[in-house]
Amino acid sequence: MVIIGAGECGGRAALTLRDLGYDGPVTLVGDEPHLPYERPPLSKEAMTSEAPLIKAIASDELLAERSIRHIHSVRAVAIDRAAHVVRLSDGSSLCYDKLLLATGSVPRKLPMPGLGGRCVYLRTFNDALAIRAHLSAGNRVAIIGGGFIGLELAASARKLGAAVTVLEAQPRILMRGVPAEIAAIIHKAHETEGVKVLTGQGITAIADSGAEVRITLADGHEVVADLAVIGIGAVPVTALAAEAGLAIDNGIAVHGTLRTEDPDIFAAGDCCSFPLAVYGGRRVRLEAWRNAQEQGALAAKNMLGANEAHAAVPWFWSDQYGLTLQIAGLSDEGRSTVRRDLDDGALILFHLAEDGRLVAASGIGPGNAVARDIRLAEMLIAKQARPAPEALGSQAVKLKSLLAA
Ligand SMILES: Cc1cc2nc3c(=O)[nH]c(=O)nc-3n(C[C@H](O)[C@H](O)[C@H](O)COP(=O)(O)OP(=O)(O)OC[C@H]3O[C@@H](n4cnc5c(N)ncnc54)[C@H](O)[C@@H]3O)c2cc1C
Repeated sequence: MVIIGAGECGGRAALTLRDLGYDGPVTLVGDEPHLPYERPPLSKEAMTSEAPLIKAIASDELLAERSIRHIHSVRAVAIDRAAHVVRLSDGSSLCYDKLLLATGSVPRKLPMPGLGGRCVYLRTFNDALAIRAHLSAGNRVAIIGGGFIGLELAASARKLGAAVTVLEAQPRILMRGVPAEIAAIIHKAHETEGVKVLTGQGITAIADSGAEVRITLADGHEVVADLAVIGIGAVPVTALAAEAGLAIDNGIAVHGTLRTEDPDIFAAGDCCSFPLAVYGGRRVRLEAWRNAQEQGALAAKNMLGANEAHAAVPWFWSDQYGLTLQIAGLSDEGRSTVRRDLDDGALILFHLAEDGRLVAASGIGPGNAVARDIRLAEMLIAKQARPAPEALGSQAVKLKSLLAA
């Protein structure tokens, strides 16, 4: 069993192979120098904690105890499907019976001239260390892109006293997948904390002198920063699969079982697109921590012959200041929305399809305020339930009772 990509998904897959009793060789190949580690803290605790500790998914001891061979700092450069061999950047090669591609995604590059060493992206622990070095009090940070990673980073930077400007070309932040009502709450929280959020502002030029970055906006204004962090989305890492002749469709295209059209090659996590059973087989690609875990575990199971389809409801969370946002399902499947207000200013929006099916729920509130209801909503979505809108909207009706119904 060979796994390419030692991230959330690859690490989880390797451990699951052992959990399921597989006792043959397991090799995990990663091009980063670290043990498999968690990425969500990179925009959160890794920025603000006293020491920027890496949160490993599996320690050296655990990998040794489980007889998982971890090859780090080495890239898989080619797959010879006929010979069942993966070639690595250090000139060596690995034979496989089953291969898992868990190559993740990388930040989308800003296609503009003028970018230099003070214009950076955030994906890896090393990126986080480099950004952290600029987040001290008084430093000016421009964040290009009002998506999750940029906004989480903005919150962390404010906590450290940096002066932060968020530049979003779209009319509002979090355009993709987050309802306007919830995005407005997050926008306000950033402004309250002193972040300057400029929406509907395209960038016409960037000049990075090496000492500072000057960003010219469409309206002629200029934002000057010590560091510009670009967070305009991510693209799946598919070159290895494409060069091996595997189908690519917004990611490495897999069946519901996470198998590619090659019966011995699987793909999972951020790098793959797959049919989502709960939405009638709609092909999606998710960039979410829990999905990477779930698919890593499922891919391992199916590499051992289980042939089970991925059936989970998508779930995502984001922490900014004291607020936690959670989304279960895909809100763009909804045609109408029902609002439920909870205590402490928390709220949940339920998204209903035309036929009344609950297809998604988006919640925001302090700490864990929405966690329980989002969990119950997720179960209702999985059941393809059609709860009465009045019941969803009333805090007096327990969601648990709707599940039983
Ligand atoms: C800053 C940040 C914050 C996030 N916060 C949240 C959050 O709050 N909530 C949430 O749900 N999700 C969050 N995510 C998303 C979540 O971390 C990802 O969805 C998850 O890491 C995906 O796991 P993966 O294993 O598919 O890919 P990755 O974690 O990207 O791992 C893929 C690994 O494969 C390596 N690789 C690629 N190609 C090769 C090759 N040819 N040879 C060898 N190695 C290779 C890569 O370098 C990488 O180490 C966040 C992501 C980031 C970057």
